[in-house]
Amino acid sequence: MPLLAALLLLLSIPCLATVTIDSEHAGPINLSSATRYLEDNSNSLNLQDILALPGSQWQAYGDNTFSMGYSTSTWWLTFNLANTSPEEVRHLLEVGYPGLDHLAVHMVWNGKIDVFVMGDALPFDHRPIKSHNFLAPITLPAQGQVSVYIEVRTSSALQVPLILWQPQEYYRQDRTANLLQGFYFGVMIVMTVYNLFVFLAVREKNFILYVCFAFSLPMFIAGIKGFSFEYLWPNHPQWNDLAIIWPLCLAVLFGALFTESFLKIKQLGRWATLLFRIQQGSIVLLLLLSHVVDYQLIISILIPATTVSCTMGLLFGMIMWNRSGLSAKYYTVGWSAFLLGGISLGLNKLGLIPTNLITENTLQIGSSIEVILLSFALAESINEERRLRSDAQDNALQAERETRRAREQALRIQQQTTEELESRVQERTRELETLNRQLAELSDTDQLTGLKNRRYLDRVMHEEITRCSRYQHDLSIILLDVDHFKQFNDTYGHLVGDDCLKAIATSLGENIRDAVDCVARYGGEEFCVMLPETGPQRAMAVAERLRDQISKMPFSVEGELIPVSISLGVSCMVKGEKVTGESLVSQADEALYDAKQAGRNCVIFAERRAPSSSCGSSFEQDQSMN
Ligand code: GH3
Ligand code: MG
Ligand code: MG
Repeated sequence: MPLLAALLLLLSIPCLATVTIDSEHAGPINLSSATRYLEDNSNSLNLQDILALPGSQWQAYGDNTFSMGYSTSTWWLTFNLANTSPEEVRHLLEVGYPGLDHLAVHMVWNGKIDVFVMGDALPFDHRPIKSHNFLAPITLPAQGQVSVYIEVRTSSALQVPLILWQPQEYYRQDRTANLLQGFYFGVMIVMTVYNLFVFLAVREKNFILYVCFAFSLPMFIAGIKGFSFEYLWPNHPQWNDLAIIWPLCLAVLFGALFTESFLKIKQLGRWATLLFRIQQGSIVLLLLLSHVVDYQLIISILIPATTVSCTMGLLFGMIMWNRSGLSAKYYTVGWSAFLLGGISLGLNKLGLIPTNLITENTLQIGSSIEVILLSFALAESINEERRLRSDAQDNALQAERETRRAREQALRIQQQTTEELESRVQERTRELETLNRQLAELSDTDQLTGLKNRRYLDRVMHEEITRCSRYQHDLSIILLDVDHFKQFNDTYGHLVGDDCLKAIATSLGENIRDAVDCVARYGGEEFCVMLPETGPQRAMAVAERLRDQISKMPFSVEGELIPVSISLGVSCMVKGEKVTGESLVSQADEALYDAKQAGRNCVIFAERRAPSSSCGSSFEQDQSMN
């Protein structure tokens, strides 16, 4: 068998490119351009079959990493390594794509065949060298050659990046790469844990969506980089396919839920919400289907769905750029960084941009920038909410202050109005009182003579009788009537009669006590005088004085002196006596009647009559004299 293999090897070697190595060579060697490949559709060929094929069956692929997309075939790749140095050289062959399901590295040298079987469909311990990438040790004999045949079959994307390393160089760069990966995972874990604590403190939905999103992203990267298999479930290779689909689906789902909630997509209208529901629903459907449908089918749908979701996130961020505050701007820049990372990785895989430490890790760089910026966005959104709340509080306070001011002003106006109203009412009341007083005065006053009238006298007399009865005082009434006044009127006219009545009133007023006695016109040419606290003797004296004064009153008409006389009746309420005003006036009236009967111009006292000092009408006497 080894002999046959050696023979076949000799047959096939001429058509293969050979990579020459010497012991001085330290740097990594990209084997892509030296690699030839062929496809086994039937998945039935073994190494012997491959070695038996003519060299013309092999095809060159070019300088780029060998990549066949999704394929169900088994692919064979081969290249020759030649050692020109006089010593044996030990190298490492790296297949830098940890998602390959089945990978066998056959090394044919010196008539021997070494095989290393790897792939993420096998437990991690099967690997000849324990690393997240596939590594196969290659020993090149001094001045010798090795032909390498790589057999690959996978349900994931088929990529076979082949690099030959000097072991020290590999481990040196691996340490650096691992340090950077560790830094990336550290950043992501810190952001996740930090925001988880923030969520526990503030209980804001956006934070938990962010945490789920930020947790799913590194899980996805750990899946495609082979770290989760290496560290989390090395003995469960069956989980490896799901370990890529699940975190990716969850990252897209939570990314979409976060975007919808954070950017408040609802305010754009029902269409936007519907779009997000469709997107989220599709992702959930893919997630469920991943358990029953072939990995290849799911991943071939999931990748465009992820691209659409990322683009959607970026587009909505741009739509909300001006509508929201700084938080939407952080969001958009963060999302752009992630998308840019994805695009760069795609371009790198397509061979359009060179492979280096940065271009190989653009997804990690983009996602960490995104996660950091989204965290800023969240913090800023909290600030914005706080600012809004404080603005609202300020506005409420301002409104309250204004309301209080308005209420105080209204109260002041009300007080002013009340005061004005009160002062106007007081003024009006005063005016009314004055008018009432004037009216009362008028209603109590006789128009012609200006004396009090009978109404007034009746009222006052009643009060005085009550008072004098209580204090046991006397009270006297004088009722007087002008003698022959009809005749006077007939002789001199009614107007002169009026003047005469005025003159009599003046004379009466002048001959009584101010503020104590009261004289009133009792009707026609009759007058009544009330004398409080005045007994019969004094009353008679007053009556006599009045009679005397009137009889001496110089009343002239057209230069002619006309004598005027009055007759008087006097009545009196003496201490303890029970009388009424009417009875007193009635008694005085009777006495007056008596005085008239007695010849006029005299005073008669009622009941206890004391004869008047003089009787006889002046006017009649005068008339008779005339
Ligand atoms: P006697 O001495 O008996 O009282 O005679 P007399 O003429 O005064 O009697 P009588 O009571 O009949 O007449 C009263 C007159 O007084 C009649 C009326 O014309 C007159 N008189 C009443 N009131 C007024 C008044 O206001 N002005 C004038 N000018 N005359 C009046
Ligand atoms: Mg009379
Ligand atoms: Mg008379």
